[in-house]
Amino acid sequence: MEERKVLLLKFGELFLKGKNKRDFERLLMDNIRRKLTGYDFSMEYTSGRIVIENYEDIEESVIVEKLKTVFGLIGIAKAVEIDGDYENIKKYVSSIKLSGTFRVSAKRADKRFPMTSVELERNLGEVLLNSNENLKVDLHTPKTILYVEVRFNGKCYIYHENIKCAGGLPLGSGGEALLLLSGGIDSPVAGYLMAKRGLKIQAVHFHSYPYTSEQAKEKVITLARELTDYVDEIKLHIVSFTKIQEQIHMNCDSEYMITIMRRIMMRIAEKICERENLGAIITGESLGQVASQTMQSINVTNSVVSLPVFRPLIAFDKEDIMDIANKIGTYETSILPYEDCCTVFLPKHPVIKPTIKRAEHLEKFLNIDALVKEAIETEEVMLIKG
Ligand code: ATP
Ligand code: MG
Repeated sequence: MEERKVLLLKFGELFLKGKNKRDFERLLMDNIRRKLTGYDFSMEYTSGRIVIENYEDIEESVIVEKLKTVFGLIGIAKAVEIDGDYENIKKYVSSIKLSGTFRVSAKRADKRFPMTSVELERNLGEVLLNSNENLKVDLHTPKTILYVEVRFNGKCYIYHENIKCAGGLPLGSGGEALLLLSGGIDSPVAGYLMAKRGLKIQAVHFHSYPYTSEQAKEKVITLARELTDYVDEIKLHIVSFTKIQEQIHMNCDSEYMITIMRRIMMRIAEKICERENLGAIITGESLGQVASQTMQSINVTNSVVSLPVFRPLIAFDKEDIMDIANKIGTYETSILPYEDCCTVFLPKHPVIKPTIKRAEHLEKFLNIDALVKEAIETEEVMLIKG
Protein backbone atom coordinates (compact mmCIF):
# COMPACT_ATOMS: atom_id res chain seq x y z
CA MET A 1 0.00 0.00 0.00
CA GLU A 2 1.50 3.25 -1.08
CA GLU A 3 1.03 6.25 1.17
CA ARG A 4 2.28 9.76 0.70
CA LYS A 5 2.41 12.81 2.89
CA VAL A 6 0.67 15.75 1.24
CA LEU A 7 -0.89 19.07 2.10
CA LEU A 8 -4.58 19.17 1.26
CA LEU A 9 -5.73 22.74 0.63
CA LYS A 10 -9.32 23.87 0.97
CA PHE A 11 -10.71 27.01 -0.53
CA GLY A 12 -13.86 28.96 0.23
CA GLU A 13 -17.11 28.08 -1.42
CA LEU A 14 -17.16 29.74 -4.79
CA PHE A 15 -20.20 31.68 -5.74
CA LEU A 16 -18.85 31.89 -9.23
CA LYS A 17 -19.75 29.25 -11.73
CA GLY A 18 -18.50 27.80 -15.02
CA LYS A 19 -15.63 29.64 -16.63
CA ASN A 20 -15.34 32.14 -13.79
CA LYS A 21 -14.88 29.36 -11.30
CA ARG A 22 -12.07 27.84 -13.35
CA ASP A 23 -10.37 31.23 -13.76
CA PHE A 24 -10.66 31.77 -10.04
CA GLU A 25 -9.09 28.39 -9.25
CA ARG A 26 -6.33 28.96 -11.77
CA LEU A 27 -5.57 32.35 -10.19
CA LEU A 28 -5.48 30.77 -6.75
CA MET A 29 -3.01 28.15 -7.98
CA ASP A 30 -0.86 30.81 -9.65
CA ASN A 31 -0.83 32.75 -6.39
CA ILE A 32 0.18 29.63 -4.46
CA ARG A 33 2.94 28.89 -6.94
CA ARG A 34 4.25 32.45 -6.63
CA LYS A 35 4.10 32.33 -2.85
CA LEU A 36 6.15 29.12 -2.81
CA THR A 37 8.82 30.32 -5.24
CA GLY A 38 12.11 28.73 -4.30
CA TYR A 39 10.59 25.57 -2.82
CA ASP A 40 10.45 22.20 -4.54
CA PHE A 41 6.93 20.82 -4.73
CA SER A 42 4.27 19.77 -7.14
CA MET A 43 0.63 20.74 -7.15
CA GLU A 44 -2.44 18.91 -8.30
CA TYR A 45 -6.01 20.14 -8.58
CA THR A 46 -8.83 17.76 -7.88
CA SER A 47 -12.50 18.77 -7.62
CA GLY A 48 -12.65 21.25 -4.78
CA ARG A 49 -9.18 20.64 -3.36
CA ILE A 50 -5.61 21.50 -4.21
CA VAL A 51 -2.95 18.99 -3.27
CA ILE A 52 0.63 20.02 -2.60
CA GLU A 53 3.04 17.11 -2.76
CA ASN A 54 6.63 16.07 -3.33
CA TYR A 55 8.10 18.66 -1.00
CA GLU A 56 10.98 18.21 1.41
CA ASP A 57 9.84 17.06 4.82
CA ILE A 58 11.86 19.70 6.61
CA GLU A 59 10.23 22.46 4.57
CA GLU A 60 6.68 21.45 5.46
CA SER A 61 6.18 23.90 8.31
CA VAL A 62 7.58 26.86 6.31
CA ILE A 63 5.33 25.96 3.40
CA VAL A 64 2.32 25.80 5.71
CA GLU A 65 3.17 29.22 7.19
CA LYS A 66 3.43 30.73 3.71
CA LEU A 67 0.17 29.19 2.57
CA LYS A 68 -1.62 30.67 5.57
CA THR A 69 -1.21 34.08 3.95
CA VAL A 70 -2.65 33.12 0.56
CA PHE A 71 -6.09 34.70 0.26
CA GLY A 72 -8.79 32.33 -0.92
CA LEU A 73 -7.50 29.37 1.09
CA ILE A 74 -9.59 28.57 4.14
CA GLY A 75 -7.77 25.57 5.50
CA ILE A 76 -4.78 23.26 5.19
CA ALA A 77 -4.61 19.68 6.32
CA LYS A 78 -1.45 17.66 6.69
CA ALA A 79 -2.85 14.51 5.15
CA VAL A 80 -1.87 11.06 4.01
CA GLU A 81 -2.78 10.22 0.43
CA ILE A 82 -3.60 6.61 -0.39
CA ASP A 83 -5.39 4.79 -3.20
CA GLY A 84 -9.10 5.34 -2.82
CA ASP A 85 -10.53 1.80 -2.91
CA TYR A 86 -12.35 0.68 0.18
CA GLU A 87 -10.14 -2.31 1.05
CA ASN A 88 -7.10 -0.12 0.89
CA ILE A 89 -8.69 2.62 3.01
CA LYS A 90 -9.80 0.05 5.57
CA LYS A 91 -6.31 -1.41 5.77
CA TYR A 92 -4.74 1.99 6.29
CA VAL A 93 -7.32 3.09 8.87
CA SER A 94 -6.83 -0.11 10.86
CA SER A 95 -3.17 0.86 11.34
CA ILE A 96 -4.04 4.23 12.92
CA LYS A 97 -3.42 4.41 16.66
CA LEU A 98 -6.04 6.38 18.59
CA SER A 99 -7.17 6.64 22.18
CA GLY A 100 -9.93 8.47 24.02
CA THR A 101 -12.97 9.54 22.05
CA PHE A 102 -13.32 9.95 18.32
CA ARG A 103 -15.57 10.13 15.33
CA VAL A 104 -15.01 9.70 11.62
CA SER A 105 -16.03 12.44 9.23
CA ALA A 106 -16.13 11.18 5.66
CA LYS A 107 -16.61 12.94 2.33
CA ARG A 108 -17.16 11.23 -0.94
CA ALA A 109 -16.62 13.69 -3.76
CA ASP A 110 -16.61 10.78 -6.19
CA LYS A 111 -20.12 9.40 -6.19
CA ARG A 112 -18.92 6.27 -8.02
CA PHE A 113 -17.46 5.17 -4.71
CA PRO A 114 -19.64 2.22 -3.65
CA MET A 115 -20.58 3.53 -0.19
CA THR A 116 -22.30 6.67 1.03
CA SER A 117 -20.38 9.01 3.32
CA VAL A 118 -22.45 7.87 6.27
CA GLU A 119 -21.74 4.20 5.53
CA LEU A 120 -18.07 4.97 5.18
CA GLU A 121 -18.08 6.76 8.55
CA ARG A 122 -19.80 3.84 10.28
CA ASN A 123 -17.63 1.17 8.71
CA LEU A 124 -14.36 2.95 9.40
CA GLY A 125 -15.54 3.70 12.94
CA GLU A 126 -15.95 -0.03 13.44
CA VAL A 127 -12.52 -0.69 12.01
CA LEU A 128 -10.96 1.76 14.48
CA LEU A 129 -12.86 0.35 17.44
CA ASN A 130 -11.64 -3.12 16.54
CA SER A 131 -8.03 -2.12 16.11
CA ASN A 132 -7.68 0.15 19.17
CA GLU A 133 -8.37 -0.53 22.81
CA ASN A 134 -9.65 2.27 25.05
CA LEU A 135 -11.42 4.01 22.22
CA LYS A 136 -14.98 5.30 22.30
CA VAL A 137 -17.21 7.00 19.80
CA ASP A 138 -18.36 10.52 20.66
CA LEU A 139 -20.21 12.25 17.86
CA HIS A 140 -20.44 15.65 19.54
CA THR A 141 -17.23 16.52 21.36
CA PRO A 142 -14.67 13.90 20.36
CA LYS A 143 -11.00 14.25 21.19
CA THR A 144 -10.13 13.26 17.63
CA ILE A 145 -12.01 13.70 14.39
CA LEU A 146 -10.60 11.49 11.68
CA TYR A 147 -11.34 13.04 8.30
CA VAL A 148 -11.52 10.75 5.29
CA GLU A 149 -12.04 12.24 1.85
CA VAL A 150 -12.40 10.19 -1.30
CA ARG A 151 -11.76 12.52 -4.20
CA PHE A 152 -12.32 12.37 -7.94
CA ASN A 153 -8.71 11.53 -8.70
CA GLY A 154 -9.22 8.07 -7.23
CA LYS A 155 -7.27 8.96 -4.10
CA CYS A 156 -8.28 9.08 -0.49
CA TYR A 157 -6.99 11.70 1.95
CA ILE A 158 -6.87 11.03 5.66
CA TYR A 159 -6.10 13.59 8.36
CA HIS A 160 -7.17 14.72 11.78
CA GLU A 161 -6.25 18.38 11.99
CA ASN A 162 -7.39 21.46 10.09
CA ILE A 163 -5.08 24.47 10.03
CA LYS A 164 -7.02 27.69 9.60
CA CYS A 165 -5.95 30.02 6.77
CA ALA A 166 -6.65 33.65 5.93
CA GLY A 167 -9.81 33.04 3.90
CA GLY A 168 -11.08 35.75 1.56
CA LEU A 169 -10.78 35.68 -2.23
CA PRO A 170 -7.71 35.10 -4.41
CA LEU A 171 -5.57 38.18 -4.78
CA GLY A 172 -6.34 39.84 -8.10
CA SER A 173 -9.74 38.21 -8.55
CA GLY A 174 -11.45 41.54 -7.86
CA GLY A 175 -9.13 43.84 -9.81
CA GLU A 176 -6.73 46.45 -8.45
CA ALA A 177 -7.20 49.50 -6.24
CA LEU A 178 -5.20 52.36 -4.72
CA LEU A 179 -4.59 52.43 -0.97
CA LEU A 180 -4.01 55.77 0.74
CA LEU A 181 -1.18 54.64 2.98
CA SER A 182 -0.24 56.92 5.85
CA GLY A 183 2.20 55.87 8.53
CA GLY A 184 -0.62 55.16 10.98
CA ILE A 185 -2.21 52.02 12.33
CA ASP A 186 -5.36 52.08 10.24
CA SER A 187 -4.45 52.31 6.60
CA PRO A 188 -2.24 49.17 6.42
CA VAL A 189 -5.10 47.24 8.01
CA ALA A 190 -7.53 48.70 5.47
CA GLY A 191 -5.21 47.58 2.65
CA TYR A 192 -4.93 44.10 4.10
CA LEU A 193 -8.71 43.73 4.40
CA MET A 194 -9.38 44.82 0.83
CA ALA A 195 -6.59 42.60 -0.50
CA LYS A 196 -8.28 39.79 1.36
CA ARG A 197 -11.39 40.50 -0.70
CA GLY A 198 -9.37 39.87 -3.83
CA LEU A 199 -8.00 43.32 -4.71
CA LYS A 200 -4.43 43.82 -5.78
CA ILE A 201 -3.04 46.94 -4.17
CA GLN A 202 -1.02 49.93 -5.24
CA ALA A 203 -0.41 52.59 -2.60
CA VAL A 204 0.04 56.33 -2.46
CA HIS A 205 1.75 58.14 0.38
CA PHE A 206 1.76 61.92 0.83
CA HIS A 207 4.72 63.41 2.64
CA SER A 208 5.59 66.96 3.58
CA TYR A 209 9.34 66.80 3.51
CA PRO A 210 11.17 68.71 5.06
CA TYR A 211 8.36 69.28 7.60
CA THR A 212 8.10 65.51 7.86
CA SER A 213 11.31 63.52 8.21
CA GLU A 214 13.05 61.05 5.94
CA GLN A 215 12.26 58.42 8.59
CA ALA A 216 8.54 59.03 8.16
CA LYS A 217 8.92 58.05 4.53
CA GLU A 218 11.07 55.03 5.42
CA LYS A 219 8.39 53.95 7.85
CA VAL A 220 5.79 53.90 5.09
CA ILE A 221 8.11 51.91 2.83
CA THR A 222 8.52 49.42 5.68
CA LEU A 223 4.74 49.20 6.10
CA ALA A 224 4.31 48.57 2.39
CA ARG A 225 6.96 45.86 2.58
CA GLU A 226 5.17 44.27 5.53
CA LEU A 227 1.98 44.19 3.49
CA THR A 228 3.75 42.33 0.69
CA ASP A 229 3.57 39.23 2.92
CA TYR A 230 -0.01 39.15 1.71
CA VAL A 231 -0.10 41.04 -1.57
CA ASP A 232 3.08 39.90 -3.28
CA GLU A 233 4.17 43.35 -4.43
CA ILE A 234 3.10 46.97 -4.07
CA LYS A 235 3.71 49.81 -6.44
CA LEU A 236 4.16 52.72 -4.04
CA HIS A 237 3.59 56.27 -5.25
CA ILE A 238 5.31 58.78 -3.00
CA VAL A 239 3.85 62.22 -3.56
CA SER A 240 5.08 65.48 -2.13
CA PHE A 241 2.35 67.37 -0.34
CA THR A 242 4.58 70.15 0.96
CA LYS A 243 3.63 72.88 -1.45
CA ILE A 244 -0.04 72.00 -1.25
CA GLN A 245 0.03 72.20 2.53
CA GLU A 246 1.85 75.52 2.46
CA GLN A 247 -0.70 76.91 0.01
CA ILE A 248 -3.62 75.70 2.08
CA HIS A 249 -2.01 77.08 5.22
CA MET A 250 -1.54 80.49 3.63
CA ASN A 251 -4.88 80.76 1.86
CA CYS A 252 -7.55 78.79 3.70
CA ASP A 253 -9.50 79.03 6.86
CA SER A 254 -7.56 77.02 9.44
CA GLU A 255 -10.55 75.01 10.57
CA TYR A 256 -11.03 73.77 6.98
CA MET A 257 -7.35 72.90 6.44
CA ILE A 258 -7.70 69.19 6.95
CA THR A 259 -10.92 69.02 4.97
CA ILE A 260 -9.27 70.65 1.99
CA MET A 261 -6.09 68.62 2.35
CA ARG A 262 -8.12 65.46 2.26
CA ARG A 263 -10.09 66.62 -0.76
CA ILE A 264 -6.83 67.24 -2.59
CA MET A 265 -5.44 63.85 -1.55
CA MET A 266 -8.54 62.26 -3.02
CA ARG A 267 -8.21 64.16 -6.27
CA ILE A 268 -4.57 63.12 -6.62
CA ALA A 269 -5.49 59.54 -5.77
CA GLU A 270 -8.16 59.52 -8.44
CA LYS A 271 -5.73 60.83 -11.05
CA ILE A 272 -3.26 58.06 -10.17
CA CYS A 273 -6.10 55.54 -10.46
CA GLU A 274 -6.98 56.82 -13.93
CA ARG A 275 -3.39 56.59 -15.10
CA GLU A 276 -2.75 53.16 -13.55
CA ASN A 277 -6.17 51.79 -14.45
CA LEU A 278 -7.21 51.16 -10.84
CA GLY A 279 -10.88 50.74 -9.97
CA ALA A 280 -11.21 52.16 -6.46
CA ILE A 281 -9.61 54.16 -3.68
CA ILE A 282 -9.08 52.61 -0.23
CA THR A 283 -8.71 54.55 3.01
CA GLY A 284 -8.37 53.62 6.67
CA GLU A 285 -11.13 55.93 7.83
CA SER A 286 -13.35 54.89 10.73
CA LEU A 287 -16.55 56.77 11.48
CA GLY A 288 -16.15 59.35 14.21
CA GLN A 289 -12.52 58.54 14.99
CA VAL A 290 -11.38 62.13 14.39
CA ALA A 291 -12.95 65.35 13.10
CA SER A 292 -12.10 64.50 9.49
CA GLN A 293 -13.94 61.20 9.82
CA THR A 294 -17.42 62.36 10.77
CA MET A 295 -20.20 61.55 8.34
CA GLN A 296 -20.25 65.17 7.15
CA SER A 297 -16.48 65.27 6.68
CA ILE A 298 -16.49 62.02 4.76
CA ASN A 299 -19.22 63.40 2.53
CA VAL A 300 -17.21 66.53 1.79
CA THR A 301 -14.02 64.62 0.94
CA ASN A 302 -15.91 61.98 -0.99
CA SER A 303 -17.65 64.51 -3.19
CA VAL A 304 -14.54 65.38 -5.23
CA VAL A 305 -14.10 61.89 -6.66
CA SER A 306 -16.31 59.66 -8.72
CA LEU A 307 -14.52 56.34 -8.22
CA PRO A 308 -15.80 54.18 -5.38
CA VAL A 309 -13.97 54.76 -2.10
CA PHE A 310 -13.67 51.64 0.03
CA ARG A 311 -13.42 52.23 3.78
CA PRO A 312 -13.28 48.75 5.26
CA LEU A 313 -12.69 50.09 8.79
CA ILE A 314 -15.66 52.43 8.80
CA ALA A 315 -17.45 50.48 11.56
CA PHE A 316 -14.40 49.22 13.44
CA ASP A 317 -13.33 50.31 16.92
CA LYS A 318 -9.67 51.26 17.33
CA GLU A 319 -9.09 48.22 19.55
CA ASP A 320 -10.27 45.88 16.84
CA ILE A 321 -8.15 47.60 14.23
CA MET A 322 -5.13 47.27 16.53
CA ASP A 323 -5.80 43.56 16.94
CA ILE A 324 -5.68 43.05 13.19
CA ALA A 325 -2.58 45.26 12.88
CA ASN A 326 -0.90 43.01 15.43
CA LYS A 327 -2.01 39.87 13.69
CA ILE A 328 -0.74 40.97 10.28
CA GLY A 329 2.49 42.34 11.71
CA THR A 330 2.21 46.07 10.93
CA TYR A 331 1.44 47.39 14.41
CA GLU A 332 4.98 47.78 15.70
CA THR A 333 6.02 49.79 12.65
CA SER A 334 2.86 51.91 12.74
CA ILE A 335 3.50 53.11 16.27
CA LEU A 336 7.00 54.42 15.52
CA PRO A 337 6.83 58.10 16.43
CA TYR A 338 7.35 59.93 13.14
CA GLU A 339 5.22 62.87 12.07
CA ASP A 340 2.56 62.35 9.45
CA CYS A 341 1.86 65.15 6.99
CA CYS A 342 -1.64 65.51 8.43
CA THR A 343 -0.17 66.56 11.75
CA VAL A 344 1.96 69.32 10.28
CA PHE A 345 0.26 72.73 10.64
CA LEU A 346 -2.52 70.99 12.51
CA PRO A 347 -5.35 73.42 13.28
CA LYS A 348 -6.52 73.63 16.89
CA HIS A 349 -10.17 73.28 15.99
CA PRO A 350 -10.77 71.31 12.83
CA VAL A 351 -14.33 71.60 11.59
CA ILE A 352 -16.50 68.65 12.59
CA LYS A 353 -19.40 69.30 10.26
CA PRO A 354 -17.94 70.87 7.13
CA THR A 355 -20.09 71.65 4.11
CA ILE A 356 -19.29 71.09 0.46
CA LYS A 357 -20.32 74.66 -0.30
CA ARG A 358 -17.84 76.18 2.11
CA ALA A 359 -15.03 73.86 1.01
CA GLU A 360 -15.66 74.76 -2.62
CA HIS A 361 -15.63 78.43 -1.73
CA LEU A 362 -12.30 78.20 0.09
CA GLU A 363 -10.75 76.20 -2.73
CA LYS A 364 -11.29 79.16 -5.08
CA PHE A 365 -8.24 80.71 -3.42
CA LEU A 366 -6.06 77.82 -4.56
CA ASN A 367 -5.00 76.73 -8.00
CA ILE A 368 -6.03 73.17 -7.37
CA ASP A 369 -5.57 71.81 -10.88
CA ALA A 370 -2.00 73.07 -11.07
CA LEU A 371 -1.16 71.81 -7.58
CA VAL A 372 -2.56 68.36 -8.35
CA LYS A 373 -0.77 68.23 -11.67
CA GLU A 374 2.57 69.22 -10.19
CA ALA A 375 2.23 66.74 -7.32
CA ILE A 376 1.58 63.88 -9.72
CA GLU A 377 4.32 64.86 -12.14
CA THR A 378 6.92 64.91 -9.38
CA GLU A 379 5.90 61.68 -7.70
CA GLU A 380 8.49 59.08 -6.86
CA VAL A 381 7.52 55.49 -7.67
CA MET A 382 8.93 52.41 -5.97
CA LEU A 383 8.11 48.79 -6.60
CA ILE A 384 8.15 47.06 -3.24
CA LYS A 385 8.58 43.31 -3.33
CA GLY A 386 8.35 40.82 -0.51
P1 ATP B 1 -4.05 56.02 9.82
O1 ATP B 1 -3.89 55.27 11.10
O2 ATP B 1 -4.28 55.12 8.65
O3 ATP B 1 -2.98 57.04 9.62
P2 ATP B 1 -5.68 57.98 11.04
O4 ATP B 1 -6.55 57.42 12.08
O5 ATP B 1 -4.42 58.63 11.46
O6 ATP B 1 -5.40 56.83 9.97
P3 ATP B 1 -6.25 60.22 9.31
O7 ATP B 1 -4.92 60.77 9.52
O8 ATP B 1 -7.46 61.08 9.40
O9 ATP B 1 -6.59 58.99 10.23
O10 ATP B 1 -6.29 59.55 7.90
C1 ATP B 1 -7.41 58.87 7.43
C2 ATP B 1 -7.00 58.08 6.21
O11 ATP B 1 -6.51 58.96 5.19
C3 ATP B 1 -5.84 57.15 6.47
O12 ATP B 1 -6.29 55.91 6.99
C4 ATP B 1 -5.24 57.01 5.11
O13 ATP B 1 -5.95 56.10 4.31
C5 ATP B 1 -5.40 58.41 4.54
N1 ATP B 1 -4.20 59.23 4.82
C6 ATP B 1 -3.98 60.08 5.83
N2 ATP B 1 -2.77 60.64 5.77
C7 ATP B 1 -2.18 60.13 4.66
C8 ATP B 1 -0.90 60.29 4.04
N3 ATP B 1 0.03 61.09 4.55
N4 ATP B 1 -0.66 59.62 2.92
C9 ATP B 1 -1.58 58.79 2.38
N5 ATP B 1 -2.77 58.59 2.94
C10 ATP B 1 -3.09 59.24 4.05
MG1 MG C 1 -2.82 59.05 10.25
